Amino acid sequence: MAPLLDRDLERYVHDHTEPPPALLDELREHTFASDPRAGMQVGRVEGALLKLLVSLMQARRVLEIGTFTGYSALSMAEALPPDGELITCDRDPDVTRVARSFFDRSEHGKKIRIALGDALETIRALPASPAFDLVFIDADKERYSAYFEEALPRVRRGGLLVADNTLWGGEVLAPESADGRAIAAFNDLVARDPRVEQVMLSVRDGVTLARKR
Ligand code: SAH
Ligand code: CA
Repeated sequence: MAPLLDRDLERYVHDHTEPPPALLDELREHTFASDPRAGMQVGRVEGALLKLLVSLMQARRVLEIGTFTGYSALSMAEALPPDGELITCDRDPDVTRVARSFFDRSEHGKKIRIALGDALETIRALPASPAFDLVFIDADKERYSAYFEEALPRVRRGGLLVADNTLWGGEVLAPESADGRAIAAFNDLVARDPRVEQVMLSVRDGVTLARKR
């Protein structure tokens, strides 16, 4: 992922954003030390944004598509009430094992349920109610549009869909890869969908917020 801001500004943004609890720093460092894909973690700024969105939405039910080692899930779970629930989907048992081991060390971990398996199948098996207050889409890019279509009916009116990496390192301007084309198609789909009111934020690699009308 090519950063959109230069290194100094990215650092400045980082330094002026609410720091996470020590356990999240440890999770980030553990992932960087043990997994070459660690850059997929949302990190401090986007983690703080997600947590704030969960707070602002006064969310009780959150769906996450793409757990990896759990940084974004644990960030969001911190802002849920004690009886809140976050369902997070991933098909990779190796990364979700790491995620669970960190969730179990947090007082917020009991709010998180990991759904192991193909995310699209997991979502399709979820009933329409109780609805979700917030959905975070961050798994395989080629299926972003499918995740959006399946998730939207399961979000309450006024609920929020959040999608990560929607600028795809700037490649959306002239997509070359399959992932770049899929993200660009997703962005067009959201932009013309009358069911949502959306804004693209140039945070990190691009974060789209879409509120269900
Ligand atoms: N939100 C995470 C990063 C997610 S990375 C964080 O902040 O740390 C994307 C994840 O999506 C990977 O762990 C990958 O295993 C998962 N994934 C990719 N395709 C999937 C699919 N079809 N079903 C479920 N999970 C999938
Ligand atoms: Ca991501």
